[in-house]
Amino acid sequence: MPELPEVEVQVRGLSQAATNQKIVGVGVLVPNAISDKMRRAVTKLQIQEFIYQVTGQTIETISRRGKYILFTLTNHKTLVIHLKMTGQWQVLQPESELPYATGLILQLQNGTRLAYRDTRKFGYVIIKLNDELDTFFTDKQLGPDPFSGEYTVELFKTRLKRKSNSTLKSVLLSQYAVVGLGNIYVDELCFRTHIRPTRLIKNLTNKNIVLLYTEIITLLTEAIAAGGSSLTVKDSLVGYRGTNGASGTFASQHLVYGRGGKHCVTCGSDLAMTQISSRTTVYCKSCQK
Ligand SMILES: [Zn+2]
Repeated sequence: MPELPEVEVQVRGLSQAATNQKIVGVGVLVPNAISDKMRRAVTKLQIQEFIYQVTGQTIETISRRGKYILFTLTNHKTLVIHLKMTGQWQVLQPESELPYATGLILQLQNGTRLAYRDTRKFGYVIIKLNDELDTFFTDKQLGPDPFSGEYTVELFKTRLKRKSNSTLKSVLLSQYAVVGLGNIYVDELCFRTHIRPTRLIKNLTNKNIVLLYTEIITLLTEAIAAGGSSLTVKDSLVGYRGTNGASGTFASQHLVYGRGGKHCVTCGSDLAMTQISSRTTVYCKSCQK
């Protein structure tokens, strides 16, 4: 599942290819790609309306808010994208074929096409008025983005403490204290900070919290620089890729994620495996307290 680093790598690729480009054509190949309501069928009228609103608009900026990708358009509207499990954008040159599982295509004036593909079909590309965006995000009760000015140690601490009886991993996965970390980066973060993911928030020391706060930035920065982590999600056929189709290399630097039962790289003991919030969690009982 793409987490903050993978989404950021996608945003950088998209920005380079599509900023200030006019969208001259829209193709909706999988109707559900334009809806965030999983079980509701998308009507022909909704598809026509989507195409009408997007065609002819210029993409002013492409940015990220947590794990969401935002295309700001000239008509005071924004395309809001969540990649969920297997969504990803590919930037296609005029002669390239459409990738497998393409759900939506944006044809740009310069000949480039942006293809949104999603094998598991949980992700979406929806259109919102700019005025609706704040409510859209506030309703989701999301914490600050770690790369925004809002992310301060005080806010991080306050938000964590409101969940004092929960485990560290479940709170981080909930996106309430900070956004962007999923199963991979939470396990890696806990290992790097020597804190068990099973630790209750109320048992974290001030020093632990400050360490977590700083290490989140370091870890995510390193992962972005490596192009993210490319892992194949079950049944999805393709793992995460950048917009140019290249795999990220950060998976080779994972110390605990996916290594349950293997030796700890630091002390050599067998890594423990448990479930937290229904997610497989790996940690070292000797190195993490
Ligand atoms: Zn260890």
